Amino acid sequence: TSKPSSKKALPVLQLVNVCRSFGDFTAVSGISLDIREGEFLTIVGPSGSGKTTMLRMLAGMDAPSSGNITLRGELINQVPARRRPTCLVFQSLALFPHKSVGENIEFPLKVKKMPPAQRRERALELLRMLRLPEDYYGKNVMKCSGGERQRVALARAFAYDPDVLLFDEPLSALDYKLKKVLEKELKDLHRTTGKTFIYITHSLEEAMVMSDRIAVMRGGRVVQIGDPETIYANPADDFVAEFFGEVNKFRVSFSHAGGWYDEATAQRLEIHPGTELASATEALVVVRPEYMHFVEAGGHYDNVLEGEVFNEYSLGSRIQYQVRCADTSVLVEVPRTWSGSVRAGDRVSIGFNASDALVAGV
Ligand code: ATP
Repeated sequence: TSKPSSKKALPVLQLVNVCRSFGDFTAVSGISLDIREGEFLTIVGPSGSGKTTMLRMLAGMDAPSSGNITLRGELINQVPARRRPTCLVFQSLALFPHKSVGENIEFPLKVKKMPPAQRRERALELLRMLRLPEDYYGKNVMKCSGGERQRVALARAFAYDPDVLLFDEPLSALDYKLKKVLEKELKDLHRTTGKTFIYITHSLEEAMVMSDRIAVMRGGRVVQIGDPETIYANPADDFVAEFFGEVNKFRVSFSHAGGWYDEATAQRLEIHPGTELASATEALVVVRPEYMHFVEAGGHYDNVLEGEVFNEYSLGSRIQYQVRCADTSVLVEVPRTWSGSVRAGDRVSIGFNASDALVAGV
């Protein structure tokens, strides 16, 4: 006999083969995805990859052309936004400009016909939760700064008390410092409220810092989904690798006599292609700059390239060097605390190990 599955184990939202077309154009193309109760899932992808279209369908502002969306097992394709336990937080915030902070936050409570005294109490509680002073309650929302307005919009979203919060680039208009503060606060809010967060961003840093899982979209499909560490360290292909930071790419060809050969650096490379590339004669070798090393005495690498340093960039905690190797240039990144020393004009040997390279099909 099988045990009945607990409610926790059910995905809160499930997409099965979801498509959305506009005329001949397919914006979302057969996405199947389980969203776990209480997780922080971030959707990233280039402009036009279908992120907003997907979020709008989850919010109930749009419906799939085909496929199914279920909420805890119940089909919700055609259920409108106001009848779903989801709440969308926009980049534009959509606050009522002539109303006070308190009135903005209380709006959902008023709709639910909560008595005024109770509404006020809840609004003050939400102000505290979002780290806004309580005397902001009566302040006109347009007299708040951008970051404060962002917090008001979040407080209002929590006032709906949704099970799932959907965020469409809520921090993209803020300056860097404020963004960093709110990133951490959002993550804290996620932890303390236990709600499911689904978040769209262009910022890889935001995605890496906040998410339990990241879904990478391209051309209306999810090309990889996983925790941030896996996506960064084990990208499914060169597109995901490049989307999540800088990479070195070597286009190699195979011959039985010479193995894998890279024409641009005029080198034979030792690489480990997966079984799916067993009969390939062309491949792309992708190596992140931090996995490229200057060869120091006693250092051994599967692949060693000779070159000349021609640029140095300070990245703050790390330093990046651009090294010309035959017809190509290679990025090497070292921590600022690296004990070696390299300058523009130096002849250097740089090395990487086969296990640190992604081998993708072309
Ligand atoms: P961005 O990061 O730029 O916001 P996105 O990944 O959110 O992009 P979507 O807004 O989902 O992308 O759009 C995906 C594609 O679908 C785009 O090519 C867009 O032009 C198209 N599209 C979206 N909505 C409509 C619509 N209502 N009518 C026609 N085409 C649409």
